Formats: sequence, structure tokens, C-alpha cells
Amino acid sequence: MSAIQAAWPSGTECIAKYNFHGTAEQDLPFCKGDVLTIVAVTKDPNWYKAKNKVGREGIIPANYVQKREGVKAGTKLSLMPTVPAAGLTWGRDPLHTWLEAGITESEPLHYTSDADGLCTRLIKPKVMEGTVAAQDEFFRSGWALNMKDLKLLQTIGKGEFGDVMLGDYRGNKVAVKCIKNDATAQAFLAEASVMTQLRHSNLVQLLGVIVEEKGGLYIVTEYMAKGSLVDYLRSRGRSVLGGDCLLKFSLDVCEAMEYLEGNNFVHRDLAARNVLVSEDNVAKVSDFGLTKEASSTQDTGKLPVKWTAPEALREKKFSTKSDVWSFGILLWEIYSFGRVPYPRIPLKDVVPRVEKGYKMDAPDGCPPAVYEVMKNCWHLDAATRPSFLQLREQLEHIKTHELHL
Ligand code: AMP
Repeated sequence: MSAIQAAWPSGTECIAKYNFHGTAEQDLPFCKGDVLTIVAVTKDPNWYKAKNKVGREGIIPANYVQKREGVKAGTKLSLMPTVPAAGLTWGRDPLHTWLEAGITESEPLHYTSDADGLCTRLIKPKVMEGTVAAQDEFFRSGWALNMKDLKLLQTIGKGEFGDVMLGDYRGNKVAVKCIKNDATAQAFLAEASVMTQLRHSNLVQLLGVIVEEKGGLYIVTEYMAKGSLVDYLRSRGRSVLGGDCLLKFSLDVCEAMEYLEGNNFVHRDLAARNVLVSEDNVAKVSDFGLTKEASSTQDTGKLPVKWTAPEALREKKFSTKSDVWSFGILLWEIYSFGRVPYPRIPLKDVVPRVEKGYKMDAPDGCPPAVYEVMKNCWHLDAATRPSFLQLREQLEHIKTHELHL
């Protein structure tokens, strides 16, 4: 270790570069790939006090571990130029149809949508230009995992980018998003790089990334045994899930969103399908594919109309307040046990009606106090919508005063 390197503060996460067996009793042995958290400096700058995943503490050699840092997607990982670059081919995909129809990106939004009101992605470059840079970046930042340590067990879901598989990573169950060479690596890498910067007990935790030389790409996250919240609500229903449970899910999501709000991250695709449920029934926000730092003006090609705030649909004004709108829709999904929002209204009529001030009715059996919270999220004027901090306080008030039963 360089003598001039600043000491790592307590709480710094490191990843082991080599095995360390330890020689003295106070040493903390570890294996290559283990994640360790710095607890304190020692008198010797070459050694730290650290703890491992199961909480055991001991002394570790600084030069055996690498500090984990956030990965900034930035230009280095950018695989998606606005204009096809030389050597980059575009597939026969919606972009072609879009361009051939004479629609440009600067025009107001025109999206084709499927039955659920979800729109198809419009831009899909075929070549994974920049994958090497991405690999370097993940190695540099300590997020690269070794394929040898990962066993892929079975497919558990189909995502926008490819299959989601259950895996075993060094004895732990993990979820693995797999993408093969010729698909949309850009959005996939953007998702992983956003996830390296975020940490909260109600956000699905990134464990690492594998970028294979032959082009395979894998994002490894914590495994959420009970799957997506929308499926969970639909399959259990009213007879199984009581008011306590619904309010707990609402608060779980709200806490994650309060954390994102505090860190100036905008999710842009908050919906029950993008919330996952853990073995012990904790709801966690997932799918950061569209998440951007608040300052970003970058475009997205996919907009879920029924979940997106009017100003975001109209003027691409995504903000924490547009996430608040989506959170209101998500609350409605929770209290209706996973129904598709705006039932019985044709999709094409949703936006015009919402813009005139139409709001969904309370789901059957929804406590009036919770319905008030939802409606506040749907103020047409974004500035008058509550913050996630206020929403969390309101939901906690409902919980402590048992207004949820
Ligand atoms: P996504 O690509 O994130 O939309 O995921 C597609 C589906 O895969 C989800 O609806 C889940 O059923 C499943 N899935 C995704 N991530 C996980 C995870 N971390 N744990 C368990 N299942 C997951």
C-alpha cells in the first residue's frame, strides 16, 4: 500500500484481492472475493480492523483488499450514441420504424404501447461497443465478480434485457440478470452502475457484475425469494394479506424512495412490477434501468403511461415529484391487490382524462386515510405533491393510529 494513501474511514467496503489465512489470533482470515467492511484504522497504516459478512471482526492487511467505489456510467460506459457511429449497426428494430416515420427524438413523445400500457423501447444498438471499458471500470471499482464462483441454477424470470436466473455465488443464493453479446448492454450497464452508488435495506442490493471476455454480461443481485410485488399481491389476495401487510409494503417502498430523494436519484419507473419481495416479506425497489441522477437530461425510450406523471409524459420533466406521482399509483396497486391501474378506461383516454384532473377512485376496502395519501401524490401541479419524507411521516401516522384497518 502506498504510504501517502488517505486512511479509509470506518464503514468503507472492500473486496478481497487474495486469500488471507491470518497468522495471529487477532487476524481476520478471508478469501478472494469476500466483502469486508472497515471498522477502524490501526496504528500501522498497512493494517485495518475490519469485519466480515457474518460480523466477525479482526485485523486485515490493507494491500490484500481493494476499496469498493461507485461506478459512474458517464461517457466511458456509454454504448448508445444518438446517431449510429461508424462501425455500429442498428438492427431492424423500433428505431427504424420510428425514424422511417419521420419522427425525431426532439418531438413530443409518441409511443406505441402494449396491453398493460407499457411502451416498447425505441432505441436498440446491436453492437456492444465499449464493453472492455466497462469491464475495466468494474474491476477498478471492485465490483467485478468471478464467473468461476457462480453457478447458474434455473430461470426465475424474464426481463427486458434477458433471463433472470437463480444462482449460487460461493454458497449464497443470488439472482443473476444475464445478457448475451448481441443485446442491449447499454441500459444493462447503466443499471449496474447506478446500483453501485446506492445502498438501502429497501433497495435490491447489487452484489457485483461479471463482464465476460466473450461478451456475456451478468448482474448479480440479492435473491428476492417471493418475486415481484405485483405477482405477490395478485396470488395472495385479500384473504391472505391484511391491512398491516399492505401498509408495511407501502412504508418499505416509501423508505427506499425517501433515500433516493435524499440522494437526488430519480427512479422513473416505480411500479409494483419493479418492487420485489424477500423471503422475510420485505419489499425492495428494483429495476434501476431507467434511474438517472436528477440533473440528467438523458432520454429514455420506454414510458409506462399509467404510472408516469403528466409533466414527465408531456415535457420529459422527470423529478422526485414525478416519482411521487408513480408512488401514488403504486399505493393504488397495493391496495387493489395488484390490479392494473385505470381499469375500464381505454389506454388512449387515460392521459387526456388525467390532464383534466381525473383521479382513480379508492380501491375497494382502502382506508380513507391511505386514499388521501394517494390523491395527494396526484396533484397536477408537481410542486404541491408531498415529498417522500412527508409521505413516510403520513404513512407512519396512519400506522401508529391504526387508521389502516
Ligand atoms: P426484471 O428484469 O428486473 O424486470 O425482472 C424480471 C422478473 O425476474 C421479475 O418480475 C422477477 O419475477 C424476477 N426477478 C428479477 N430480479 C429478481 C431478484 N433479485 N430475485 C428474484 N427474482 C427476481
